[in-house]
Amino acid sequence: MKGLLSVVLPAFNEEAMIERAVLSVGTILQDAGIPHELIFVDDGSKDKTWPRIEAAASVVPTVRGVHFSRNFGKEAAILAGLSQAKGDCCVVIDCDLQHPPEKIVDMYALWEQGYEVIEGEKSSRGKESGLHAFAAHSFYKLISAATGIDMANASDFKLLDRKAVDVLVRMPERGAFFRALSSWVGFRTTTVKFDVREREAGESKWSTKSLIKYALNNIASFSNVPMQFVTATGVLSLVVCGLWGLISLIRLIAGADARRDRLLYRPHL
Ligand code: UDP
Ligand code: MG
Repeated sequence: MKGLLSVVLPAFNEEAMIERAVLSVGTILQDAGIPHELIFVDDGSKDKTWPRIEAAASVVPTVRGVHFSRNFGKEAAILAGLSQAKGDCCVVIDCDLQHPPEKIVDMYALWEQGYEVIEGEKSSRGKESGLHAFAAHSFYKLISAATGIDMANASDFKLLDRKAVDVLVRMPERGAFFRALSSWVGFRTTTVKFDVREREAGESKWSTKSLIKYALNNIASFSNVPMQFVTATGVLSLVVCGLWGLISLIRLIAGADARRDRLLYRPHL
């Protein structure tokens, strides 16, 4: 008896992708004989994403949906999907199909061999504009240095065994950085390489501004370097202010002496 696979698909303004994702992922898993459920998490979309999910769920029994009251961000959507999953293992995959769904079959085979965390690792990053590529590259350099985990080719595309899912869902973290946390929890891990595909429809939700905000949030949530930075800045300003105060005091005393000397040696004034 094969284990049940839950597929979690975060979706924010992806009306054009829901049906395609159901067809593409559903067909691949059915052909591979993998029992599955598809959990779409509508992360507060402003378009018709939710009605599309409802429509799919009404005709395809393996489809379920979670509906957020507003946009909480991809990490929250992933964790909500994982908390609803019933599977013996779960895959997280972008619903824009930039993560090739065929790779789920390879991941599942590795899970059957006993691996508990199977990380999708980007062998190429797909097409990105110059500024976006630069921002993403700088972010990964920074976050790898801050967390001590090599994140350059990491992605949110991964398969997790029930054990790892339970640990992640039970963690009290808010705004957790999913792709780093899944390495951090440990377990028997391996990787599957994949090429990032181009988006079929819709557009990337990441502006350079949102990428910077995401980078700062994730660095702060995953590393104590910013806290140490605050302490170091505090100590440094204390030293500088102390020295400055001391110098002012010396100058004040020396100045008072000079004024007294002037008074003493100019008797005719
Ligand atoms: N996404 C989400 N909430 C957000 C932003 C994105 O659930 O606030 C989803 C989005 O629908 C997609 C996945 O996360 O399925 C990746 O987003 P996107 O394609 O915009 O990122 P990129 O591939 O450009 O890095
Ligand atoms: Mg994408």
